[in-house]
Amino acid sequence: MNAVPAVTSPLFRSPVAEAMREAMAGGMDFPEMRDLLDLTENLHGLARVDVLDTIAHRGRAFPLISVAFGPDDPRAPVLALFGGVHGLERIGTRIVLSYLRTLSELARWDRITREMLKTTRIVLFPLVNPVGMLLKRRSNGNGVDLMRNSPVRADGIGRWHLFAGHSISPRLPWYQGTAGAPMEAEAQAVCKLVREEIFPASIALVVDVHSGYGNRDRIWFPYARTRDPFPRVPEVLALKGLLDSTYPHHIYCVEPQSRQYVTHGDLWDYLYDDYHARGAPGHFIPFTLELGSWVWVRKNWWQLFDRLGAFNPHLPHREQRALRRHLHLFDFLYRAVQSPEPWAAMGDGSRERLMGHAVGLWYAK
Ligand SMILES: [Zn+2]
Repeated sequence: MNAVPAVTSPLFRSPVAEAMREAMAGGMDFPEMRDLLDLTENLHGLARVDVLDTIAHRGRAFPLISVAFGPDDPRAPVLALFGGVHGLERIGTRIVLSYLRTLSELARWDRITREMLKTTRIVLFPLVNPVGMLLKRRSNGNGVDLMRNSPVRADGIGRWHLFAGHSISPRLPWYQGTAGAPMEAEAQAVCKLVREEIFPASIALVVDVHSGYGNRDRIWFPYARTRDPFPRVPEVLALKGLLDSTYPHHIYCVEPQSRQYVTHGDLWDYLYDDYHARGAPGHFIPFTLELGSWVWVRKNWWQLFDRLGAFNPHLPHREQRALRRHLHLFDFLYRAVQSPEPWAAMGDGSRERLMGHAVGLWYAK
């Protein structure tokens, strides 16, 4: 039997990570950061680990860590996972870390995974907002809601519709930051990673994991800023058709985010518009996985008395269920970037037909 060659990678021995460990020993400890450091330090030879930036808080530098499996060529197809944009939504980071753990094990011993990683990448940014997570806040350390922080403006929203994003005060939730100011460092790190690692790819799917809305798990695609159809809606519908036929018992409601609510400043709208404006020839579809956390609250209402309660499962068996139930979705999407022909290589006639179906399904007034 031939030995499977290791995926190339330098070791992850970052002074920033070492400094973070020191800060955690000094009382700035939280389990998601600890797990992220433990996992990334054990990826020797399996993946590339980068510190995209650091966020200063109480004299310490919190690292923004990304992990990339697969070839170094940014044109190679890619699945990218993000978590922890909102610091209260710890379960999102835990889900991405759970996938990172499974993937790093598979990359050690499973020949099929190692074969796929020769041509197809997986990029993970599990903890976008570490200071928000440490402080148990939705926003970052500056009080800014990172998912309202891009310059994108939504259609027809009044100034006092705070939930959609506002520039009134960082003391109120959903604060977008000062109008016209540069985006927050965490949001810029997301943009940098996406522009460098995702935009050049021939095929790119993104999943950004959130929680706190609704009774079921939703897969949202852009736009958040408008109820107009997303230009890649035929590809999304074809992908949904593959998901429905391949996993007929899946749990997801797939829909445009604007079907539930419209917001200013969505990072994925901003990045998609940027990608589209560049006329890039590939496919880049950013999804949000919004976990239906109201179910956890309905079954366990006293968790509402906890600040994190509306956003995370409290009982261990519910958390374990959340950590395992999305693994097949990530696996499906990874296969879909490696085998894109059924959803991304349509002729004009098929696209037009699917656009008509999608408009009827998702955009009918
Ligand atoms: Zn969120």
